[in-house]
Amino acid sequence: MDTISAEKRSRNMSRIKGRDTQPEKTVRSLLHSMGFRFRLHVKSLPGKPDIVLPRHKSVIFVHGCFWHGHPGCRRASIPTTRTDFWTAKISGNRQRDEHALAALEKLGYRCLVVWQCQLRDKAALRRRLATFLNSEDPPESALPN
Ligand SMILES: [Zn+2]
Repeated sequence: MDTISAEKRSRNMSRIKGRDTQPEKTVRSLLHSMGFRFRLHVKSLPGKPDIVLPRHKSVIFVHGCFWHGHPGCRRASIPTTRTDFWTAKISGNRQRDEHALAALEKLGYRCLVVWQCQLRDKAALRRRLATFLNSEDPPESALPN
């Protein structure tokens, strides 16, 4: 097992604070209403996925647009103060996300990223979840724009 650097630990801590956020609850209740069974925050998997569907060998991450740097999203704009700090912070988060997705796919998991700004259109989200979980095809791109 790797030694966890102080930096990484503090990032892990900040991630723990983000548990059970409203966006995550929205996706969970939608999945529940669709009849899917899932587990939460599985620590044994890379990136500790927010939602794991063991029967589908699938994971879902619900990402805040700012913290995870949603490309092209207006919610992801970097603050005009301490710009360097935020740029480094967010790009670190993005890198960590990409590594986790790559590691999960290597383990045979299908991955879906749901962005916070995509939660407003519930009907579209529901369709997307259904397509993702009912499809036996190769996984949808893990990092949709
Ligand atoms: Zn967004």
